[in-house]
Amino acid sequence: MSVRLNSHLSDKQLAALKDKLLSEAERIRTNFQLKKHEYENNSLTGAKDEVDSANDNILLAADMRFSNRESLYYKKIMKTLSKVETDQYGMCDECGEPITFSRLIARPTSEMCILCKEESEREESQNFFERRSKSLGTVMSVTGH
Ligand SMILES: [Zn+2]
Repeated sequence: MSVRLNSHLSDKQLAALKDKLLSEAERIRTNFQLKKHEYENNSLTGAKDEVDSANDNILLAADMRFSNRESLYYKKIMKTLSKVETDQYGMCDECGEPITFSRLIARPTSEMCILCKEESEREESQNFFERRSKSLGTVMSVTGH
């Protein structure tokens, strides 16, 4: 009998995680369908005054942003669902250490362990400050002349 790479997860835990991914995917699909329905119904109601349609546009823009985020998340769920069948699932992409079940059940699409995630977030904010101070430096040397 071969040992799975992600043997820190029991079959039962893996099944629970897969369930969660499937229900998240289902939730997003339902949301999309509801929204599509709303738009179709709205466009059937016909003439509106300008204020109404301006409001509609704002709502639509907000919805699109929401939908973009949701569709990215949806893609991630689908990717994770195909990974969940392999023993790569639940292993950190960065250091290869197992990701704890409690972290996975809270966020089943996690690809990094908590330590690597924190590390990458720290690096991101550091890069941000470095970029900022560099551009500030340029501004200062320009005004110094
Ligand atoms: Zn890690």
